[in-house]
Amino acid sequence: MAEPSPEVLAQLRELLGEKGVREQSDDYLPNVILKPSSTDEVAAILRVCSAAGQALVPLGGKTGLASGHFQTDGELGLSLERMQAIEEIDTENRTMTVQAGCILQNAAEAAEEQDLLLPLDFGARGSATIGGNVATNAGGNMVIRYGMTRDMVLGLEVVLADGTVVCNLNKMIKNNTGYDIRQWFIGAEGTLGVITRVVLRLRPQPKSQNTALLAVDDFPAVAQLLRFLDSRTAGTLSAFEVMWPEFYEYITREGSTHQRPLPHGCAHYVLVETQGADPVSDSERFEAVLAEAMAEGLVSDAVLTRSQAERNALWEIRDDVLELFTQGPFIPFDVSLTIERMQAFIADIRAAMAAYEDAICVVFGHLGDGNLHVNLGNRNAENFDYDALQTLLYETVERYHGSVSAEHGIGLSKREQLPRSRSPEELQLMMGLKRMLDPQNILNPNKIFSAAQIAAASHYSPATETPV
Ligand code: ZN
Repeated sequence: MAEPSPEVLAQLRELLGEKGVREQSDDYLPNVILKPSSTDEVAAILRVCSAAGQALVPLGGKTGLASGHFQTDGELGLSLERMQAIEEIDTENRTMTVQAGCILQNAAEAAEEQDLLLPLDFGARGSATIGGNVATNAGGNMVIRYGMTRDMVLGLEVVLADGTVVCNLNKMIKNNTGYDIRQWFIGAEGTLGVITRVVLRLRPQPKSQNTALLAVDDFPAVAQLLRFLDSRTAGTLSAFEVMWPEFYEYITREGSTHQRPLPHGCAHYVLVETQGADPVSDSERFEAVLAEAMAEGLVSDAVLTRSQAERNALWEIRDDVLELFTQGPFIPFDVSLTIERMQAFIADIRAAMAAYEDAICVVFGHLGDGNLHVNLGNRNAENFDYDALQTLLYETVERYHGSVSAEHGIGLSKREQLPRSRSPEELQLMMGLKRMLDPQNILNPNKIFSAAQIAAASHYSPATETPV
């Protein structure tokens, strides 16, 4: 696409003032970023852009892992960084209403001050925005207990491509009134509308936390342990993170900054955590349940934490993913599978990787959510074959009926893989929705679907020629 026309930029500058339009010369950053300060300004921007056929890329904290926020020449960036207000925390209904530019960590801390929990947490909490989290349906560390972002969104305000503001700041958990329009925009990665305000469901702040690192001898025991803990911990299980030995042993290798709470040589390392309401009885139950798991042979070794510092040390091992990438070039994959297919899936990948000299295959995952992070690479950069690894991984996911994206989304980076996880009928329906809501394809074009795919989509085209 060509540069934005001077007329469009002049109109936008007049609309937003000097503070609302930033031009950048840096090659790696978009040329122009718009910074509206209200929903009305977002709507006005979209009216100007739809009249001119001008493409826009809605921007959150730019921490996404599927390149959904990348801009190409001529596309304007639309940042909501001047729309960060926490408008209300309703302690009676346990909801929070925020503008979409609000930083996740600020929202979580504001909830905590009211003794409430916003159950969304992951490494990029300090820069990710609520609008971006909703647009990408972010996952994270508490999904096993509270679900993904879409499970905590009660209401949304969205601006459509033509500038129409669709506002439903619903606070009720039950509201069964026709199509659930809000879900169209959650996880749509900014391709169907611009999210401007969000009502989030909050939960009681947990009063107890129990954490342990467990060694498990084989994968069937891991799957059994998950069911066992989930059914025996009275609904308090909040994390079940599995590390295969290549992960744990590298992160806690000789000379590393991390402690080694369990010895090397185990088949699986499982970080488990419960969060509850009663510190005394919760920790008694946690210890009793783990003792029972050991007696039944599900767990061969265990370390329980006694302090926040010990808990942090365990989570730091699990979170030190960047350290893995010091071994050589890697591709970090994010896939999901049903649990009974995981063992064979991983065995197939490992068998194929054995053909490569110096290959690296590191697996870890949020197993309670069926989510595996499979990292494939090579210690010798010359042997690293990006395309071959992509094909290997995604063909195997398709064969096992898994999902090519568990939590990172599609964006640009997984666009070609989408048909492996969605049927032709589903893809046509998605593209029909895109064409209805954004007939000129100005909202985050080429993400999820290419412009050519959208143009060629045959079914469910908008009935604009048929007057009512
Ligand atoms: Zn993850």
